[in-house]
Amino acid sequence: MKFYFYISFCVILFMHCKSEESIPAKSKLPQEMKAKKPKLPAADLKYIMGKYDPATRKDFVEIPEKYADRKGLYLRKRALDSFIKMSEAAAEKGIKMQIKSATRNFDYQKGIWERKYTGTTILSDGTNVATDIKEIKDKCLKILEYSSMPSTSRHHWGTDIDINAFNNEYFEAGEGKKLYTWMLTHAADYGWCQPYTPHGPERPHGYFEEKWHWSYMPLSQTLTRQAEAELKDEMIKGFMGAEAAVEIGVVEKYVLGINKACR
Ligand SMILES: [Zn+2]
Repeated sequence: MKFYFYISFCVILFMHCKSEESIPAKSKLPQEMKAKKPKLPAADLKYIMGKYDPATRKDFVEIPEKYADRKGLYLRKRALDSFIKMSEAAAEKGIKMQIKSATRNFDYQKGIWERKYTGTTILSDGTNVATDIKEIKDKCLKILEYSSMPSTSRHHWGTDIDINAFNNEYFEAGEGKKLYTWMLTHAADYGWCQPYTPHGPERPHGYFEEKWHWSYMPLSQTLTRQAEAELKDEMIKGFMGAEAAVEIGVVEKYVLGINKACR
C-alpha cells in the first residue's frame, strides 16, 4: 500500500513538472514585460557618442552671438528656442545668462581630455595629471571629477549648456548667486535641469557638482535612456586612458550618475 502511494506520488509530481514545462510560462513573461516598457527608438550611437559635426545636422542651429560668448557654438534647435525664452525671462529680472559651452563633439572632447591627461592643461586644483598621478585609472578618475571621457559627454547631444562661469564659487555670491537662485526656481518651467548636483546618498557617483551645467530635459531624458540601454563601456575608445573605461564603469557611474530629477 505504502509502495503504491509512493508510485502515485511520483507520477503526480512528474505530471505536475511536465505540465509546468508544457505551459510556455517562461517564454510568455518576457514578452509581457517588454510590452509594458515604453517604446524606445534605437539610438543613433554615433550621435550619442558625439561622432558627427553639429554644423552639418539639420536639427542643430548656431547660437546667435548675443546669447553666447563667441561664434560657432551649436545647440539642438528646440533647446535653443527654450534657452532664449528662459534667458529673456531672466533678463526681465536683471539677470544675465551667457552660454560659454554647448555642443562639443567627440574630437573636441578628446582635445579637452588629452590636454588634461598629458599635463598641457593643469587642473583647477593645481594637479598635473601627467606628472602627479602614476596609474592610468587614477589619472582618469582625477580628470573625471569635472571632464567627461570622449563619447560619454552630455555635451555631445546638443541638449546641454554651460553658463556664465566654470566655477561653483561664482554662483555662490553676487550676480552668480542671483542667477543660480533664479535657475533653481524657474529653470524647470522651461524644461532645464542641473544634472551634476552635490554627491550624497541620492547621487553617490559621477562628476562633482557643476552649478554652471544645465540640461534641456525634453530632449536629454530620452537620450539618457538610450545611452543607458545601448552605450557600453567597451565601446569607449580612441583616446589616451580609454583602457580604464571598463574598470571604472564609466556608463553606470558617470553617464547615469546624474541628479534623479533629470532622469
Ligand atoms: Zn558642461
